[in-house]
Amino acid sequence: MLNPLVDTRDVKFVLFELLDVDKLTKFEVYADFDHDTFDATIDLAEQISYDVIYPTAEDGDKNPAKWDPATKAVTLPPSYKGAMDAYFEAGFGSIYDNPEIGGMGMPFTIAMSSLEFVTAANYSLFMYPGLSHGAMELIEEYGTHEQWEMYGAKILTGEWGGSMCLTEPDAGSDVGALKTKAVKQADGTYKISGQKIFISGGENDYYANMIHPVLARIEGDPKGTKGISIFIVPKFLVNKDGSMGAFNDVTCTGIEHKMGIHGQATSQLAFGDNGNCVGYLLGEERQGMKIMFKMMNMARMGTALMGQANASAAYMHAVTYAKNRIQGCDVTQMLNPDAPGIPIANHPDVKRMLLYMKSHLEGQRVLINLMYNQFDIIKGSVNEDDKKEANALIEILTPILKAGCTDKGLDIASTAMQTYGGYGYCKDYPIVRYMSDAKILAIWEGTNGIQAMDLMMRKILMNKEQKNYAALRKRMDETVAKAKGIVDEKYLNLFDAATKQLDELIEFFKTQMATGKFLNIFAQATPFLDAMYIVAMAWAHVWTLTVAQPKMQEIVGDAKGADRDKLIADNAEAAFYTGKVLSSQFYIGTELPKFSGRAQAILFNEGAVVKANPNIFTGALAE
Ligand SMILES: Cc1cc2nc3c(=O)[nH]c(=O)nc-3n(C[C@H](O)[C@H](O)[C@H](O)COP(=O)(O)OP(=O)(O)OC[C@H]3O[C@@H](n4cnc5c(N)ncnc54)[C@H](O)[C@@H]3O)c2cc1C
Repeated sequence: MLNPLVDTRDVKFVLFELLDVDKLTKFEVYADFDHDTFDATIDLAEQISYDVIYPTAEDGDKNPAKWDPATKAVTLPPSYKGAMDAYFEAGFGSIYDNPEIGGMGMPFTIAMSSLEFVTAANYSLFMYPGLSHGAMELIEEYGTHEQWEMYGAKILTGEWGGSMCLTEPDAGSDVGALKTKAVKQADGTYKISGQKIFISGGENDYYANMIHPVLARIEGDPKGTKGISIFIVPKFLVNKDGSMGAFNDVTCTGIEHKMGIHGQATSQLAFGDNGNCVGYLLGEERQGMKIMFKMMNMARMGTALMGQANASAAYMHAVTYAKNRIQGCDVTQMLNPDAPGIPIANHPDVKRMLLYMKSHLEGQRVLINLMYNQFDIIKGSVNEDDKKEANALIEILTPILKAGCTDKGLDIASTAMQTYGGYGYCKDYPIVRYMSDAKILAIWEGTNGIQAMDLMMRKILMNKEQKNYAALRKRMDETVAKAKGIVDEKYLNLFDAATKQLDELIEFFKTQMATGKFLNIFAQATPFLDAMYIVAMAWAHVWTLTVAQPKMQEIVGDAKGADRDKLIADNAEAAFYTGKVLSSQFYIGTELPKFSGRAQAILFNEGAVVKANPNIFTGALAE
């Protein structure tokens, strides 16, 4: 049966046929697992997501999170509690955590591909346990044993929640500008005062207590990011015996009214308005940014997944709609007034839209799972070189996928709406929700502009010997070597030319860097990320063809025309592999060539952006 949110067969293709995750069981840390457990976990994620979590998406839209100005409390949409309970009861809340702390210890790759289903069903709900888990991981890694026992352990079980408190009114992308203050007390604790805004899930009625990791500057510490420390700030203080104590002066002063994700309480939090907010240092003083980066990096990868999953749900709806909406006749019968109407999925332009969405989503699924798979290699492998390469791949793929999957995610949701025609624009159908929910993903966790600068500077130009890029190119070359003799040369030639041009771009930027053309580099960061996303995706498709083409050949053989159509209509596997091959050929043949134009534009090195000045944008000088 077709899952209406995620193509489960494709998830299993990526996991078991492409990445061969079963081989993870050879690592000692995963020796207790086997293929059947992995497979059953994906099936369970699919079932819970569709049966329990998916209905909450519409509920969240119709009954948004509400803030009561009298009590300052937030009430979540009515269906959220039961769905979150089911999520924890099924074990997804601690699926990849180490068994020593009470987790299931599953590979990251299986955990995160399970989350594709959960986030496709309603990512705004998932963010409550998702961000809480991120806060828990900070305490696990950087907290003391006592802090773990007091706070972390209760977040892991889902009893308490957590958040991520960076943003302030004057400190968004520039976190270093924050004003929240910490004053050291004689007992070693800190008095916290300040305001955080846009805090996802910051206040809610699901968790009995909220444990906020808060970035603040200790009195007297230097300006900028270097002077930032991080504190555990519970909403209610915790007594020595672990029970909840007095209110800790953390007040929700309102929630935002947003374009989408209406079930998500995006909270304004006031810390210490009455001078009574206690914070506990996490890690060491002035290490706040380094520590928070762990959570931010995970959240960036999670945002890539949400972008892909939200778009997947939009696409799956569009496929079902297009197969059922009768409109117009076969293009070859256009002049025949008696020609019967056909489902729009048969019209070439609609097929083009569907293939466009399918090919992007499938390529993203490969790269996202590949990225998560690197964590399993780091955790399980004993080979230091493999671990280093895995780390380099994570580093470089994170900004590409955070920005690429979220920008394209909005575009895919828009294409899904186009597929529906006018009905897609109406709220009776779910595509409006997917489009509205998609946009924020390009903004938070470091805007996509910030991701582009991160890719260009930290991940490539300032990365020693460009090791991150070298790791990616090595893997691309290995894929091409395997593809030779399997994948049609015309696709391999296109990919080969693109990788060479990508090398040329990197050399171009290295020269710009060496000659101090920093403004040029920053002006080209987003075009460069967009271009690099295209090549990375094409790599995923070359790899896919290498695996899928022989399997298609095995089942479909040389069948053509009506014979092939009948085979595809009767045999789901024939349809699946044919779909995989066409999707990858479409991507390499029609999307990859766009890279060359982008590369040319970058190399042309137009200086208009650098020359532009805020006064040139309108005819009159605006304030
Ligand atoms: C629904 C929602 C949920 C959120 N959840 C959280 C959360 O849980 N925790 C949290 O701490 N924050 C959260 N945020 C805040 C979010 O991370 C910020 O909105 C984001 O980082 C951008 O900051 P800003 O809105 O102040 O925009 P600004 O930083 O003012 O940016 C505006 C524009 O300028 C660009 N820009 C800014 N600086 C530069 C630069 N140096 N170079 C080039 N371009 C630049 C940006 O890319 C952007 O296009 C959330 C926001 C929203 C809307």
